[in-house]
Amino acid sequence: MTTAKTSTETLAGTPTETSTETPAGTPAEIPTATEAAKMTVSPTAPKIVRAQIMHTPQQQLAEADLQYWSDGALAFDDKVLAVGSFAEVRRQYPTAAVIDARDSVLLPGLIDVHVHYPQVHMIGAMGMTLLTWLKTRTLPEEANMVSDTYARVAAGNFVNSLLANGTTTALVFGAHFATAQAILFDEALRQGLRVTSGLVLSDRNLRSELETTPEQAYAQSQQLIETYHDYARLRYAVSPRFSLSCSDAILDVSRSLMAEHPEVWLQTHINENHDEIAFVAELFPEAKDYLDTYERHDLLGNKSVFAHNIHVSDDELARLAESGSSVAHCPSSNMFIGSGIFDMNRHFDAGIPFALGSDVAGGTGFSLFKEALMSYQGQMLLPDGYPLTAAHLLYLVTRAGADLLAHDNIGDLQVGKQADFILVRPPSGSSLSHVLAHSPSAEASLSAIFTLAREDSIAATYIAGEQRFAAGSGLSPS
Ligand SMILES: [Zn+2]
Repeated sequence: MTTAKTSTETLAGTPTETSTETPAGTPAEIPTATEAAKMTVSPTAPKIVRAQIMHTPQQQLAEADLQYWSDGALAFDDKVLAVGSFAEVRRQYPTAAVIDARDSVLLPGLIDVHVHYPQVHMIGAMGMTLLTWLKTRTLPEEANMVSDTYARVAAGNFVNSLLANGTTTALVFGAHFATAQAILFDEALRQGLRVTSGLVLSDRNLRSELETTPEQAYAQSQQLIETYHDYARLRYAVSPRFSLSCSDAILDVSRSLMAEHPEVWLQTHINENHDEIAFVAELFPEAKDYLDTYERHDLLGNKSVFAHNIHVSDDELARLAESGSSVAHCPSSNMFIGSGIFDMNRHFDAGIPFALGSDVAGGTGFSLFKEALMSYQGQMLLPDGYPLTAAHLLYLVTRAGADLLAHDNIGDLQVGKQADFILVRPPSGSSLSHVLAHSPSAEASLSAIFTLAREDSIAATYIAGEQRFAAGSGLSPS
């Protein structure tokens, strides 16, 4: 097994270039955004990035309101030092180098609370609903992760894809193989991504290669927790796949791991598809509903994240809320494999925290902009849908995810938070560039970004003040 220590050593060789910073003084000395994309940021030297800036620092979805500066600036080292108008920030940091990104919109780093690493190579498997999709395409692909060579390629492509889409933090459903899981942690460590993830546990109803035993699940999870949890930006999540593929013994192992390591997270799936729910009811005849299959093993709580939860009873909602559990809302996946539309209003009224997950590869890609658009469209279609605004969408892909994952140092651009941010710059001549050039307001611009911006509009991704992706850098060759 590769280890965190090994990766730390290789971190010294990260492919960032030596700084060629140009100190700011006159506009002629300010590098363009393209030049800026090549610069390495020293965490100790304050810098300013000049751009249109937007964020939603409020604490609740209902309060989400856009705070923005049309000629804004963010001063940062590894943390946000100042944010405001360019004139104000420049006065505070008169000698800091300036990255001129006036052709870009600066947003907080995006946060994906449900995405599957071993499914990176199978996005777009059409024509199936959940159980057929799993059996026909997904599980055979996940079985390929038994090969360390294949897992390394998948991990590289997965982490690169997140960064290229502006995602700086993710709760990741991992692999069924301990070595493949370690490879993901090592790759995230190497590239600086904030990742919470874990070995996926199952012992029935999958392919035999993907099934483990309670003893092996416990031993391998323990080892991974000891190696990776709370190491740099990595955290561990105990990850029983779903009750359909887990016996009581595996769910009990999950309980033991959570009891022995109360600081780690738990992630699983629930109430996604009618056939899945009926199958789980057959497997657990003594359980009163799907949630009860987890509840009876003490798997609910404020570190537990349940993906989907589309077909949920009022009683389950009340118990989820009481336990402090959260839900990952994955609209593109829910539509792509025909599972249904998330009832946001009922979750909101019940007080259950939720944020957005791309759920690649039931989901249709890594872009949380598209995910937010799908959420908006779903709510528009429901008779009683939540009336989402662009500010709500920004909140759901930034601050909501930070709060759900208890990352109190990210999610918006307030002074003192980690400098996780992205630059959105539409390709020259694209329809988004035309819309932004004629936009009447910041809200209209943000709405257009959610509607039209995708991977090709992410110019740069910064984590803790370090540039981890730049458009055109060719980081994802496989
Ligand atoms: Zn999932």
